[in-house]
Amino acid sequence: MKKMPEDYWKKKLTPEQYRVLREKGTEPAFSGALYDNHEDGMYKCAACGAELFSSDTKFDSGTGWPSFDNPVNKENVILQDDNSYGMRRTEVICKNCGSHLGHLFNDGPKETTGQRYCINSCALDFNPQK
Ligand code: FE
Repeated sequence: MKKMPEDYWKKKLTPEQYRVLREKGTEPAFSGALYDNHEDGMYKCAACGAELFSSDTKFDSGTGWPSFDNPVNKENVILQDDNSYGMRRTEVICKNCGSHLGHLFNDGPKETTGQRYCINSCALDFNPQK
C-alpha cells in the first residue's frame, strides 16, 4: 500500500495502537487480548489487515506478549536493526504498511525455528478459522 499520512492512522487506530504501531511503543506485558489466545486462526496487522502470523506457529513464551516462531510468509514482514534504549534488537515491521509490530529474538523453541517473534497484542487482529 502507499505510504499513508499519520493523520490517517490517528483516525483509524486507538491511541494505544497508534503509540505502538506508529511510534514503536510497547504495550505492558500480560495486558493484551491475544497473548493467551489458543484458538486456530490468522493474526493480521491491526493497521492494514495484512496476514502476518498463523496460530500454527504461536507458542506460550511466558513473556505476556503473543509469540510466534515464524511469520506466515517472510515476505510480509521487514526485519530491521534497532539499537534504541541501549539494546541491540531486531525490530519486526509490517511490510505492507510500515507499522511497528514488535521484536524478534533467538530464544524461541529449539525444536522448530529457535526464533521468537514477540509481537504486541494490540498490533494484531485475530481472525478465527471458520
Ligand atoms: Fe500493516
